[in-house]
Amino acid sequence: MPTQSHRIYTQNELEDLSKAELIALVQKLQKLPAEADPTPNKREATLQVLVEQADDFVCAIDLQSRVLTINHSYRTYVKNHYGVDLNIGDQAFGYLKPEQQSYWAHLITKVSKGETIKKEILSTRNPQNYWQFTFSPLYDSDRQIIGISYFARDISKLKLSEQSLQLQTQELAKVQANFTTLINNTDDFICSLDLDFRILIINNAYQNFIQNKYNVRIAIGDIIFDKLPQNLRGLWSHLSHKALKGQKINKILQSTSDPNIFWEISINPIYSVDKDIIGLSFFIKNIGELVKNEQALRQLSQELAEKEANLSALIENTHDLICSVDAQYRLITANSAYLNYIQRRYNHHLQKGEYMFSQSSAEIEHYWLPIYNRALAGEAFKMERHYLIDNQDVWLEHSFNPIREKDGKVSGISFFMKDITLDKQKEAIMRENYQQLQKINAELDRFVYSVSHDLRAPLASILGLIEISRAETQLESRDNYLNLMQKSVKKLDSFIRDIIDFSRNARLEVNRDKIVFADLLPEILAELHYLPETQYLQITYHIHQPFDFQSDSKRIQVVLQNLLSNAIRYSDKFKDQPYIHIRIETSPQEAYIVIEDNGQGIGQAHLDKIFEMFYRASTHTSGSGLGLYIVKETMHKLQGSIEVKSELGKGSSFILKIPGLPIIYNKEV
Ligand code: ADP
Repeated sequence: MPTQSHRIYTQNELEDLSKAELIALVQKLQKLPAEADPTPNKREATLQVLVEQADDFVCAIDLQSRVLTINHSYRTYVKNHYGVDLNIGDQAFGYLKPEQQSYWAHLITKVSKGETIKKEILSTRNPQNYWQFTFSPLYDSDRQIIGISYFARDISKLKLSEQSLQLQTQELAKVQANFTTLINNTDDFICSLDLDFRILIINNAYQNFIQNKYNVRIAIGDIIFDKLPQNLRGLWSHLSHKALKGQKINKILQSTSDPNIFWEISINPIYSVDKDIIGLSFFIKNIGELVKNEQALRQLSQELAEKEANLSALIENTHDLICSVDAQYRLITANSAYLNYIQRRYNHHLQKGEYMFSQSSAEIEHYWLPIYNRALAGEAFKMERHYLIDNQDVWLEHSFNPIREKDGKVSGISFFMKDITLDKQKEAIMRENYQQLQKINAELDRFVYSVSHDLRAPLASILGLIEISRAETQLESRDNYLNLMQKSVKKLDSFIRDIIDFSRNARLEVNRDKIVFADLLPEILAELHYLPETQYLQITYHIHQPFDFQSDSKRIQVVLQNLLSNAIRYSDKFKDQPYIHIRIETSPQEAYIVIEDNGQGIGQAHLDKIFEMFYRASTHTSGSGLGLYIVKETMHKLQGSIEVKSELGKGSSFILKIPGLPIIYNKEV
């Protein structure tokens, strides 16, 4: 039975053979001894067909490199790439460059000595083309080398896949290196196990942790639970078995040794391409800090809420009006005091988010908007405003403050309204006190000056008169001197009285007595009767007092005394009928008194000064200049008023209005 290699293939059978099978067949045939072939011609024919069919290049040359056989593929290649028709008998490498020829010659020499050479040769024409050459010696029947056969196969694709395999391997190594670096760079614990819980991958952090904590070294290949302390094995093996059944385990566990440490544990099954579970992955993360931060955050927000509550309690507890608005003048927050104020003033309950002036008149809106805008432009300021609320004077202080965002942009306004009415009242009293004090100081200055002059002048003249009268022997003259002395003493006395009146008025509280002018006035006139001018004066009075009238009788007496004494002293004896007319009319509320004379009168230039301390409007007066000042001060105490009408040479009228009590008088300061 012929062997397979001796089989004769039909054309069709040959075409069905794979390339590898063809090559194997050719190689077998080459080695077959000629005599073993029962049908040499057929063998030849078969070989010929095989060679012609092959995609690989097949060629045989003699020892002189002449072509003995060349197949179609080879010939076509040479024709296409070198433009040369390579035929039997031609120099097989004649078309190549000299250096290539010598390369081939070198190879041929080697093979012709019996060597079989396999070589991968890179195409000089196309650097991506790899050829695999197999050179074998050709023997004749005497085993003599008569030539060389060679096959060339294009292995570019093979090479390419080889290269890409190499690249992939390198890439894989890199990825592996990266992976190792990655898992070793984290503080989290990472490991993977196979189905027997044998460690496949474990990172340094995990290894170190186990080492430090349990003094055990775990490494790849170890069964992890064997290395854990007894008390932990149960839990871990339980969780791992669950994961092996396909469950994803995600758990937060508190450390048994340190209550501040929490572990976040993820155990996941690892699936094969076929979706079978082939192992487990462990990720263990220390979230102690996270939990701590979370706790701190919770505490912070609690504190914030408390603060907010405190703040709103504070805002609510004050009588001040507090509110804030956004940049569109809409209410953000307001305390009850503010809302109540708006309710009272505008009979409107202002809502959060409502336009602040939705209920106000255009006038009010017009007044406040520019003020709001100042604050919205970034200005912080205060202003005071007067209101009449329930018919009472109320002063409010408004403070405006811009509300700023983190970036400094003004997003709204907060404003406070404080009732400063009491402060204002105190301020007014203080101002009044201060003015009073200034006045008193000025008066004191003038007083000291005048007293020194007015007291010393009469004393000096008395002393002088005493000296003269000592030397005087005549009784008549002495009498004259005594009269002059008496005049000086009277002047002194009247001055001292004035001062006493003045000081009384300033110091003593206002009294309240029932005043009957019909009794009071004649008494005063009687006291003034010693004045010489009364001899020619016609003094008349008209009193109309239908009701009781209450005031300070002593003070009214001082006022009337001074005015009447002036009217008498500054009367004009050259008038046809010098007179003084007194008219008094009272109601319970007021006494209206007019003292009119046709005396010397007062020049216009003096009129507004006669009420000043020590002011004298005429040179020939014996007065101290205190009288009208005392009148004015006393009237002030009585909360009344005085007015004067006078014309020089014609006469004067003094008009008094004295309010009747009850009136709450201020305490003396
Ligand atoms: P005196 O002690 O000088 O009278 P008064 O303060 O009482 O001081 O009056 C101030 C001045 O006003 C007087 O000096 C006088 O010139 C003028 N005077 C006051 N009363 C009258 C009056 N009835 N007729 C004219 N002049 C008057």
